[in-house]
Amino acid sequence: MTRAFDLKGKVAVVTGGNGGIGLGMARGMAEAGAAIVVAGRNAQKNEAAVATLKGGGATASSVIVDVNDEKQCAAMVAHAVQRHGGLDILVNNAGINVRKPPHEISVAEWTLVLNTNLTSAMVCSQIAYPEMKKRGGGKVINIGSMMSIFGAAYTPAYAASKGGIVQFTKVCATAWAKDNIQVNAVLPGWIDTELTSNARREVPGLHDRVLSRTPAGRWGTPQDMAGIAVFLASPASDFVTGASIPVDGGYAVLG
Ligand code: NDP
Repeated sequence: MTRAFDLKGKVAVVTGGNGGIGLGMARGMAEAGAAIVVAGRNAQKNEAAVATLKGGGATASSVIVDVNDEKQCAAMVAHAVQRHGGLDILVNNAGINVRKPPHEISVAEWTLVLNTNLTSAMVCSQIAYPEMKKRGGGKVINIGSMMSIFGAAYTPAYAASKGGIVQFTKVCATAWAKDNIQVNAVLPGWIDTELTSNARREVPGLHDRVLSRTPAGRWGTPQDMAGIAVFLASPASDFVTGASIPVDGGYAVLG
């Protein structure tokens, strides 16, 4: 059974892999044997993440990428191929939020969030697709959110982007099943990262509301995202495609 979860010889690119959920997933896949390409804008954070992964015995490298720039996304995939010999796993994780009600968000803010969270997943997946075909298959893991399911007054662009991720996942899963490429989404609950520490500072009472609303009774950690990443990246999930899987301590099922 351990072979079902074995990622030895596989190459994974993780956008936003230099911290938070992306790094948690990268660590899991590295422990299962994958070579990791950390892709983010901040060179220092990228290097620190690579050092962490290498410290655990992994093969890892980084590439500076703004996922809103198509050419940089193409360079990211080319880096994986040239440096590590190919591309098997793409985690579309880079994401941002702008917290404003729908009557106040500007078109520029809306566009930035939609581009970063949703359009980038399309662009990176499209560029990765021929490389995965060359390898005889692949795995795309898109990161959604509880906002893929629920609404909230302050997340117009974020919720629209994360709802879109679920539908885009189904489309790619359908189109690429014939190529042995499985495409799934992960919907994290409230995970303790830089993104949510900002939210906790800005939204009074958020920390305790999450604790009381989450059946598991705690915030998630980036480490909690490692297992689902390994599962969706490995042969264990070869007949799982188009799914959106909550990893949320039960948040989505509490009535
Ligand atoms: P972090 O803020 O810790 O990480 C976000 C990552 O995205 C960083 O590595 C950042 O790197 C990268 N990033 C942001 N914009 C860009 C860009 N334009 N180009 C390349 N990289 C970019 O947040 P999380 O780890 O919490 O979030 C990761 C994903 O998980 C996001 O999609 C988020 O929406 C989602 N999520 C998070 C939840 C949570 O509770 N934390 C819950 C549900 C979903 P850099 O700044 O170096 O570019």
